[in-house]
Amino acid sequence: MLFRPRLLHLPALLLIFAALTAGAALLTFRYSLMLGLADLQATGSHRLNLYATSLEREIDKYAYFPTTLGLERDVLQLLATPNPGLAQVEQVNNYLEQLNERAGSLSIYILDRKGKVMASSNWRRADSFIGEDLSFRPYFREAMDKGSGRFFGIGTTRGEPGYYLSSALADHQETLGVAVVKVGLKQLEKSWSTVEAPALVSDENGVVILASVPGWKFTTLKPLDDASRRAFDNSLQYNRQALNPLGVVELADLEHGARLVRLPRTEPKMVSVFPVAGEFVAQTQPLPGTPWNITVFSPQEQVRRNAADRAGIAGAGAAFLFILAVMLNERRRHLKDRLAAQEALQKANDELERKVAERTADLSSANEQLQQEVAERIQAERTLRAAQEELVQAGKLAVIGQLAAGVAHELNQPLAALRTLSGNARKFLARGNQETASSNLERIDDLVDRMGELTAQLKSFARKSTGTPRPVPVRRAVENALFLLEQRLKQARVVACIDLPEKDLNAWCDPNRLEQVLVNLAGNALDAMEGQPEPGLEISARRAGDRVQIQVRDRGPGIPTEVLSRLFEPFFTTKEAGSGLGLGLAISAGIVADFGGTLSGDNHPDGGAVFTLDIPVAPEDKQHD
Ligand code: ADP
Repeated sequence: MLFRPRLLHLPALLLIFAALTAGAALLTFRYSLMLGLADLQATGSHRLNLYATSLEREIDKYAYFPTTLGLERDVLQLLATPNPGLAQVEQVNNYLEQLNERAGSLSIYILDRKGKVMASSNWRRADSFIGEDLSFRPYFREAMDKGSGRFFGIGTTRGEPGYYLSSALADHQETLGVAVVKVGLKQLEKSWSTVEAPALVSDENGVVILASVPGWKFTTLKPLDDASRRAFDNSLQYNRQALNPLGVVELADLEHGARLVRLPRTEPKMVSVFPVAGEFVAQTQPLPGTPWNITVFSPQEQVRRNAADRAGIAGAGAAFLFILAVMLNERRRHLKDRLAAQEALQKANDELERKVAERTADLSSANEQLQQEVAERIQAERTLRAAQEELVQAGKLAVIGQLAAGVAHELNQPLAALRTLSGNARKFLARGNQETASSNLERIDDLVDRMGELTAQLKSFARKSTGTPRPVPVRRAVENALFLLEQRLKQARVVACIDLPEKDLNAWCDPNRLEQVLVNLAGNALDAMEGQPEPGLEISARRAGDRVQIQVRDRGPGIPTEVLSRLFEPFFTTKEAGSGLGLGLAISAGIVADFGGTLSGDNHPDGGAVFTLDIPVAPEDKQHD
C-alpha cells in the first residue's frame, strides 16, 4: 500500500511529525546528557580520589623527613652549639646531602631559631642556602609556632618551585630550630603520569601549583586582587611569576558539587590522550593534610556527542514510528473504507435483490391477476356472446313471429288454390280432359315449389348461424329479406325500390345475420309508414373504398329528435306494448359491430328515416380491384 496522507491533513501531519521527531530527539538528548553527566561525575569523582590519594601518598613519603631530623644528634648539637665549627657543620651538611640524594627531594636544610640556614644538602653549590635568612618564609614561622608547616613556593635562589615541609627541632622541650624538606613538583607530578583527564592542584590562594597540562602551572583560578599580589611579592612565594588567570568559565552547577565549566583554548589542544579545551565537568576536593584543592576536569564532549548521536537515533526512530503509524492508520482507514464500500455495495445489492424479488412477486401476482381477469373477461365475453347469440336468435324468432301472420296468409292462398286446382284436375280427368288436368297439375307443381321456397327461406332464416364472416352477395341478402317481407309489403302496398350496382358486390359478413338486419330495418320502415298516404321503401348499396354501404330509406314520418339519440338503446321503443320490444335496432347494431361495421340512423333531408349499414367489403372483391 502506498503512503497517501490526505492532502487536507498534510500540514498538520508535517507539524506533528516535526514536533514528535524534535521532541523525541530533544528528550533523548537531555536524558542521555543527564545520564552521561552523571556517569562522567562518577568517573570524575573516582579519578579525583585516585589522584588525591596518589598525591597524598607522595607527599606523605616526605612528611616524616623533617621530624626524623629532630632525632639526629648531630643536627641537634649543631643547633645547640652557638658557634659551631666548620667540621661539625660539614658533617651535618654531608648527612643532609646523602639523605637528599636518597630521598630524591630537591633539598633538605636546617634553620636555627632565627631562620638562618645552618646546614643544607646543597652546601657544595655556589648558590647554596647556607647563611641565608629564610625567617620570612611562612613554613619557618609555622614550624616555629605550631611545630610543623607546609608551604608551596618558588625558591628564591634558583627559582625552582617546590613543596616545603618543615618541622620544629626540639631538644628537651626547647625549640632549637627548623628542619625543611623541599620536594620538587616534578616528583609529585610523576604520580600523575597516568592521569586520563586534565587535573590540577591549586593552593590556598587559588594558584595552580600542579597541573597535568604544563601551560596551566602558575595560573590562577580566580583573578588576583592587588593586595594579594603585593603580599605574594613580599613573600616571594611565587617568585614574581606572572600568575595569569587560567580563564575557567563557570557555566553551571551540577549535582554533588560538580560544575560545568569551559576551558579556554590553549596550545596544545590535546595533552596525551585528553582534550584540554572545551566544556568539562569540573570536580574539586580538598587535599587532606594540605590547604590545597585538587580539581579534575572530565571532558563532556564525548558525552554530548553520544547524547547527540542517541538523539539522532531517537529522532529517526520517532520519525520511523510516526510514518509507520501514519501508514498503518492509512491502511486501517483504507481497509475500513473498502469494507464500508463493500458493505454499502452488499446492502445495495441486497436491496436490489429484495426489490427485484418484490417486483417479481408483484409482477407474478399482477400477471396472475391479469390472467384471471383475462380468463374472467373471456368467460364474460363467452357468456355475453352466448347471451348475444341467444338474443340474436330471440330477435330472429321475434321477427318470425311478426312474419307468422303474413307467412300463414302466404301459405293459405296456395293451399286454397291447390285444393281448387286438385279438385278441378280430378273433374277434368273424370271428363277425360287430360290436357286441362295436366295443366292444373303443372300449376299445382308451381305452387308447391313456391311454398317449398317460402318454408325453405323461413327455415334458413330461423336457423342458428355461427356468425363466421364470409363473402355475401349483397343483392341476394336484400332479395331474401324482401322475399320474407313480401306479404307485409303487399299489405302495405309498398313497392320496394332496389338500387344496387350492376357488378356483384360482396360484403364480408354472415349472410343469415345480414338478412336479419335488413329484415329488421325494412320491418321498422313498414311499421313507421303504416297509414302513410305515399309509402315508399328504397334499398341501395354502394362500394366506398374497402367498405360496403347499404342504405334503407323509407318515406315515413322520420325519427323524432328525442328518439334519435336513444335509437339503439335496448328495450327502447315508441311502439305499443306487444308490438315492439325495443330490441331490433340494438341487436342489429350488435350484429353489424361483430362484422366490424357500423349502423347509424338519421332523417333524410327529403323526409323519412334513413339507416346506413357500413360493413367491410369481401377480401376477394378487394383483390379484384
Ligand atoms: P321496436 O321496433 O321493437 O320498437 P326497434 O329497436 O326496432 O324496436 O326500434 C326502436 C324505435 O325506433 C322504434 O320504436 C321507433 O320509434 C324508432 N324507429 C325505428 N325505425 C324507424 C323508422 N324507419 N322511422 C321512424 N322511427 C323508427
